[in-house]
Amino acid sequence: MTIAFAAPQYFKNALHPQEEKETLWFLFSGDQLLVSFDKKTIPTTHTLPLLRSVYMGTLEDKHLFAAETEQQIAQPGWLWVPLRFLHGCLPEEYYALAGRAASLLNWDRTHAYCGRCGSPTFSRKQERCKECSACGHLAYPKMAPAIMALVKKGNKILLARSPHFPEKLYSVLAGFVDPGETLEQCVIREVQEEVGLQVKNLQYFGSQPWPLSHSLMIGFTCEWASGEIQTDPLEIEDARWFEHTNLPQIPTNISLARPLIDSAFLNS
Ligand SMILES: [Zn+2]
Repeated sequence: MTIAFAAPQYFKNALHPQEEKETLWFLFSGDQLLVSFDKKTIPTTHTLPLLRSVYMGTLEDKHLFAAETEQQIAQPGWLWVPLRFLHGCLPEEYYALAGRAASLLNWDRTHAYCGRCGSPTFSRKQERCKECSACGHLAYPKMAPAIMALVKKGNKILLARSPHFPEKLYSVLAGFVDPGETLEQCVIREVQEEVGLQVKNLQYFGSQPWPLSHSLMIGFTCEWASGEIQTDPLEIEDARWFEHTNLPQIPTNISLARPLIDSAFLNS
């Protein structure tokens, strides 16, 4: 199972470049990444004015930098493309690391000042962390854990539509973990809140970094225990039991939701 946005094994995280190597640039303007015209690679050099840059580490014999520029200055032979549209175009390892680059840039951008006292921060030398120059408050890159839950009942699975989804798309239930909550408690609460069902036999399925919203998705399967579907209209527009033969439109394999849904029917 390949998980989009999971960094390749041979990527090495580092804080400072050690030796001379070729550099790959993950250059962003807003959510758009600079890619070659055929969308298959990223630049090894550039002359753009930068708002910020963050060293990421190495990918085999190349240094990786994430950088942000203010204006989308046209570059002959290159295109600015929203990251979410590049899945399946860019090589998998570049796509995964572009997600990491977007997350690091977001963290750099939103932690220029201390969240406690408002003074400027600086990057610590020994770890990926912003330190406040006045009060010493530390800010590490942020990630919000969120669960995905596939609920099974016999040979059926529960899929639901959020009002924010693209038309006709159904997926598994999902929600952010509350402070002080275990992942298992979160699954039970989210299913209860969104569709009014009780579930049992929770099993960990897998996880996925989701840099588009700076979260970490943690997938579970579980079984229906009791209750009838009763949706929370603020969160869920429609929720139903589906069989393998009558599945609606479901997410592509960019999302962990897809292998999670597929796993329910592996033996069908
Ligand atoms: Zn401070």
